[in-house]
Amino acid sequence: MEQKSILVTGGAGYIGSHTVLQLLLGGYRAVIVDNLDNSSQIAVERVQKLAGEYGPNLSFHQIDLRDKPALEQLFVTTKFEAVIHFAGLKAVGESVQKPLMYYDNNLIGTIVLLEVMAAHGCKKLVFSSSATVYGWPKEVPCTEEFPLSATNPYGRTKLFIEEICRDIYQSDSEWKIILLRYFNPVGAHPSGDIGEDPRGIPNNLMPFVQQVAVGRRPALTVFGTDYSTADGTGVRDYIHVVDLADGHISALNKLSDPSVGCEVYNLGTGKGTSVLEMVAAFEKASGKKIPLVLAGRRPGDAEVVYASTDKAAHELTWKAKYGIDEMCRDQWNWASKNPYGYESPDSTA
Ligand code: NAD
Ligand code: UDP
Repeated sequence: MEQKSILVTGGAGYIGSHTVLQLLLGGYRAVIVDNLDNSSQIAVERVQKLAGEYGPNLSFHQIDLRDKPALEQLFVTTKFEAVIHFAGLKAVGESVQKPLMYYDNNLIGTIVLLEVMAAHGCKKLVFSSSATVYGWPKEVPCTEEFPLSATNPYGRTKLFIEEICRDIYQSDSEWKIILLRYFNPVGAHPSGDIGEDPRGIPNNLMPFVQQVAVGRRPALTVFGTDYSTADGTGVRDYIHVVDLADGHISALNKLSDPSVGCEVYNLGTGKGTSVLEMVAAFEKASGKKIPLVLAGRRPGDAEVVYASTDKAAHELTWKAKYGIDEMCRDQWNWASKNPYGYESPDSTA
């Protein structure tokens, strides 16, 4: 059987690199398009190595999605079965400071991609949306039918792209689109060779904890200790990045189902964990003490967010396998093997 080629935008990044590995191991060819704005080509090389005999089925192109002629050229030379679209900027705080940069990169990048896909008859898409589109949910677990809202420009790019996808499906029912709303991806591949390596000061909890553990930062600031949760700290649905990557393979399989139009699925575990519970699990996995500074709430943060997993379980036959102990074990394995991510210490500020 001929191997199917999948275009993976943002495939050098955190979630993309783990997904590309699962694609290769699943017998697909993967073509990465990434401008390396927030990633390193070393991640791509490591994925290739981890894939063993399947490594040669990976190719990488350093292209910005907004470069339409370069993207066109790729579609001329390769027939893609589907596209998994991760590429985008994702720092909430930065999006508030630089909204136009976020709208330009995330929206224009997506529109160019969709135009080129349509022009070449490739109408199957899996898109990285986010639980951020649930805003501050009135109740939990969040089901896919909940009302949508956004509290910052990053979140609005996810909302707008979801709406664009619904519109293009309305206009042309040949499109098959799956919008995946990720909850909180953490952890790393169990090899410890690929993982999350954010540029600058991490926004998210676990990359920050990891940098405290390896001595790059003195303490974790806990944002909010007065929420109406068991220990007063915010609760989220943390999901192992390898589980998340597998969810994309299930979504790809689902795209072959003739009944699929434009569908949305949560990818989470359905379990809520507080900041202090997560820190305790990481301390146990790493044997490191994480000093804490207790602080006020971070503006825009919701209190409790976790997923309803029923729809993905029934329709994608996908369910997360790993719990927070495995997430923290693998996060620490990656961090201790690569305390400065893909860079050497002297090349980082
Ligand atoms: P990441 O920054 O590690 O990966 C994104 C990749 O896209 C990077 O490699 C970056 O260089 C590339 N990129 C950005 N703009 C580009 C452009 N114009 N052209 C080409 N490449 C470009 O982020 P991630 O955590 O792997 O997230 C992947 C996707 O999932 C993003 O769309 C993000 O918004 C979404 N998401 C992430 C989380 C999370 O917590 N990590 C949660 C929900 C949704
Ligand atoms: N958080 C924290 N300190 C940090 C980063 C995050 O206390 O340095 C908290 C945050 O308030 C939230 C949880 O950890 O309750 C998860 O935050 P993250 O930014 O990782 O995910 P999101 O809020 O986008 O779901």
